[in-house]
Amino acid sequence: MNHKLHPHLNQLVRSATLAINERSAEMAADGQTIYHFGFGQSPFPVPDSIVSALQENAYRKNYLPVEGLFELREAVAAYHNDVDQIHIEPEGVLVSPGSKELIFTLQMAIKGSTLIPAPCWVSYVPQANLVQRDNQYIQTRFEDNWRLLPDQLDFAVKQTSGPHLLILNYPGNPDGGTYSAEELKALANVARKNNVLILSDEIYGRLYHKGEHVSIARFYPEGTIVSSSLSKWCAAGGWRLGHFAFPKELFWLKEALASITSDTYSCVAAPIQYAGLQAYNDKDTVGEYLFHCRRILSTIGNFCASTLLEAGVNIQSPSGAFYLFPDFESFRISLSEKGIHDSAAMCEQLLQDTRVVLLPGTAFGRPAEELNARIAYVNFDGGKALQTSREISMEQNLTMHDLGDNVINVKYGIEKLIDWLKE
Ligand code: PLP
Repeated sequence: MNHKLHPHLNQLVRSATLAINERSAEMAADGQTIYHFGFGQSPFPVPDSIVSALQENAYRKNYLPVEGLFELREAVAAYHNDVDQIHIEPEGVLVSPGSKELIFTLQMAIKGSTLIPAPCWVSYVPQANLVQRDNQYIQTRFEDNWRLLPDQLDFAVKQTSGPHLLILNYPGNPDGGTYSAEELKALANVARKNNVLILSDEIYGRLYHKGEHVSIARFYPEGTIVSSSLSKWCAAGGWRLGHFAFPKELFWLKEALASITSDTYSCVAAPIQYAGLQAYNDKDTVGEYLFHCRRILSTIGNFCASTLLEAGVNIQSPSGAFYLFPDFESFRISLSEKGIHDSAAMCEQLLQDTRVVLLPGTAFGRPAEELNARIAYVNFDGGKALQTSREISMEQNLTMHDLGDNVINVKYGIEKLIDWLKE
């Protein structure tokens, strides 16, 4: 056979996250204890009422409309109106098998270039490369809380050819930080002035620990697509149900994406869409569940951040999601004595020496020579943690002590990391 890949696909590699996860899985299979801070997956179970809805709808076998079940689109639009206080019509909602699929389709469909503040989620740039789309990182700074500054956006727009798509993710993977309403307003002004289309990836919005996530669509409704899914807040990543929410001004773009998806995935599995309907409609269950998820994540994230800070690591306290993005620059001299000069070597050696799994900053678009990495603090039993949190009054603080043995591997993992840095 003389079949060949397109030349731009010859460099394809599996994501760094998969590689390190596979190696740590091999170590675990050998019976070694792994302190796993690598997986970006919610540790909590899907709420029972939503699992029941999936079971009850398993018999549904027909294709559904490409854009998604209309009742689901109504429920998603109502959620954005009520919770996010942004005006979305059911006709502006496009349902997909995970938001990843639509982020890819969007990058394929529109002309121009993508601007991506880094550190950023691992797939934005590989997706752009797959469709040979121009793209550029905007490197943010630890000192700025890894936030994109309005001047940086303005500068990047002037340096690249348009039209521009900005992908803004908050609370962020891998940094766990978010933007204040004032910061979002300032970015919205620059975007409007420069005709930048914003893809606002708010997949962790409902896991903002304080519970009052603000969308940039409030300040730039006409130029923002909001992206979300059940994967993180509902802990249902494997179910594959995501969506984009478009304002009226961008309905033409929604129509174009729907045409593309009609020739690719057709529709999301019918039982999953009915379960999604329950997820968006059962507000009492979800409200109670999210209160506890956020309280648990905030307790564990703040414990990890404050322990590392005390040990001399540069780290921001978490605002949302389940990630931290520490910077180990203050240990550069001792790390270089171990022959470590970049984030990939640092994570590799850390895994070999201590079985602590972190993902290197380079996987998230940071320059290789930096010494940063992502910690996903999800290596505990989410079901048990929910049970513990539910036994403690909502007015009280939840502590690491309350979570007990369930968080022992989080504590040991952080301890091992600190001991290794100080060796
Ligand atoms: N955006 C961010 C920031 C993510 O972390 C993820 C998943 O890890 C996605 C998008 C894609 O999620 P899904 O396709 O499961 O909706």
